[in-house]
Amino acid sequence: MTILYRQARFLLGAASLAQLPPDTGREVAFAGRSNAGKSSALNTITDQRSLARISKTPGRTQQINYFSLMDDLYLVDLPGYGYARVPSRVSMRWQREISRYLHSRQSLQALVVVMDCRHPLKDYDLQLLGWCFEVRLPAHVLLSKADKVSRGAAASILQQVSSELALSFPGELSPSAQLFSSLKKTGLDEIRTRLDSWLNV
Ligand code: GDP
Repeated sequence: MTILYRQARFLLGAASLAQLPPDTGREVAFAGRSNAGKSSALNTITDQRSLARISKTPGRTQQINYFSLMDDLYLVDLPGYGYARVPSRVSMRWQREISRYLHSRQSLQALVVVMDCRHPLKDYDLQLLGWCFEVRLPAHVLLSKADKVSRGAAASILQQVSSELALSFPGELSPSAQLFSSLKKTGLDEIRTRLDSWLNV
């Protein structure tokens, strides 16, 4: 439902879990190391050039940013991690907050972890996927910037990441993975179709 994503509007930035909207709707969250291509992916999915720039404005990078689609359907932009600029005590606090969010949020239907396809499955990516697995939350790996490698290399990255995911997180809750490029719009239909099913639209 392309039109649904085009309607996305910034709703609020939460500096702590206490400030999240009521836990009654359906939402899908996006996480990723800084520079992984998360903002670009959110802009591409919502077909808006600068939607997720909001999340990058000073003061908002360390917030949980909510984009409302309609009624109580949301896309959620979690703080990026691995910023050299962020002091470790701040990033520790955020790791705890994100863990609590993943463990407690009833509205949360799935987590999309955005990774630069040239540097997939780093430690904290794996930690996030581990938390999802623990709480039986579906997780999906978006291998971004696929246009930066050849088609053949992209296909083999996808195959390798998929088999590592199946090994580390076996069973029906094994995270799925796909290639994506914001530049070329590769994989856009695939991610929107997954979002449709998680949001039940
Ligand atoms: P974020 O920190 O995860 O939100 O990452 P951004 O979306 O800001 O992207 C980081 C850098 O990667 C920017 O310079 C983007 O222009 C670039 N980038 C993001 N997605 C793509 C993509 O699909 N293809 C290419 N070639 N560059 C991308």
